[in-house]
Amino acid sequence: MDSNILNNLKLTKVAASKIDTFDFENVKFGEKFTDHMLVCEYKNGEWGTLEIKPYAPITLDPSARVFHYGQAIFEGMKAYKEDNNDIWMFRPDQNFERFNKSAIRLAMPAIDETRFIGGLRELIKVEKEWVRKGLGNSLYIRPFMIATESGVIASPSNEFLFCILLSPAKSYYAGKIKVQIADYYSRAANGGIGAAKAAGNYSAQFYPTKLAQEAGFNQVIWTDSNHTHLEEAGTMNVFFRINDTLFTAPTSDRILDGVTRKSLIQLGESLGYDIKIEPVQVDTILNSAKNGTLKEIFGAGTAAVVNQIEGFSYKDQYYQLPEMADEGSYALQLKNALTKLQNKLADDPFNWTV
Ligand code: PMP
Repeated sequence: MDSNILNNLKLTKVAASKIDTFDFENVKFGEKFTDHMLVCEYKNGEWGTLEIKPYAPITLDPSARVFHYGQAIFEGMKAYKEDNNDIWMFRPDQNFERFNKSAIRLAMPAIDETRFIGGLRELIKVEKEWVRKGLGNSLYIRPFMIATESGVIASPSNEFLFCILLSPAKSYYAGKIKVQIADYYSRAANGGIGAAKAAGNYSAQFYPTKLAQEAGFNQVIWTDSNHTHLEEAGTMNVFFRINDTLFTAPTSDRILDGVTRKSLIQLGESLGYDIKIEPVQVDTILNSAKNGTLKEIFGAGTAAVVNQIEGFSYKDQYYQLPEMADEGSYALQLKNALTKLQNKLADDPFNWTV
C-alpha cells in the first residue's frame, strides 16, 4: 500500500448522519446506502486523489461515453462485524483482481491496490456503525467504474470515475427458485465479455429474464451459444449434484469467475465432497433428472451465498427436483459452512477473512 495516497485522502463528512432513522431490520437488498461514498477520478493517464464525501448524485456531461458505449464495470462484495466490533471482509483481493480484469477487457485503466482496497478500508472505517453484528447482517460493497469523458465518438474514454458505495444488507431466505434453461438467447460468447463484470452483461439478460419470469420462472440458466452446455445464472454460478457428485462448469471467457463458486469448491473439497469441474451438458442434466439421479441444483453468489433450485424447464418441459431433507442437502451444508466462516463463527483455515 502507498501511504502517501492514503495520507492525502480528502474526507468531507455529512453534517448529520441518517443512521438513527435507518431501518436495518427491513432493509431491502441494494436499495439504501450509507452516509458516504468513495470517489477517485482518472485523468491525463493517472488516478487522482481519493475522496470520501457525502453520498450524493454525480453530474456528468450528457455525451459522457458511459451513456453511449457502455464502458462500465462493477464489483460486489461484503463486510461483516464480529461481536467484539472487529470488521471483516471476505476475500477482497479476489474482487480487486477481478475488477482489474474487467477493466482491461473493457479498455479501461486498472486501479492500484491502495486506491481500491486501501480506499475501501478507509470508507468502511468512516462507516463502521453501518456494519451490524449478528449472523445474517452484512454491509454490501459496490465498487464501480464508468467512462466520463464527453463526446459521442465510439472510442475508449480517456477519463473515468471510480466510486464505492456501501449498502447495509440482511440475508434472507428467498426460498427455492425455479429456473429456465436458455435454448435461444445467450448471455455470452466465446471471446466476448461474459467473464467481465461489465454493465452490458446484465442489461443483455434483462429481456430474456423478463420472458422467463412471465412464464413463471425466477431466473435463467445460461447455456453456451450452441445451447448444449450449462454455464451460469444471472448473478450466480451454478452447481449440479448427480448422485453424490457435485458438478460445476469450468470458468472461461463466457463465465464470471465467482468468488463464492471458487470458495465453495475449496470448502467442499476440504469437507470431503466429490467435486468435478467440467463442462456440464444439458443432455446429462435432462437424463439424470429423468432417471432420478439429479439430486440438487443450486446457485452460488455473494448476494444470497447459496440459492437452492427446486426445478427447471427446458424447451417447455418442466423437471421437478426430488424433495431433500435439509440435513442431506449439499447446498445447505455448504451455505452453512461458508456463512459461518464469513461471520467468524467458525475457523478460517484458508485465511479468507481480512
Ligand atoms: N455470475 C455472475 C454473472 C454474477 O454477476 C455473479 C455475482 N458477482 C456471480 C456469478 C457470482 O460471483 P460472486 O460469487 O463473486 O459474487
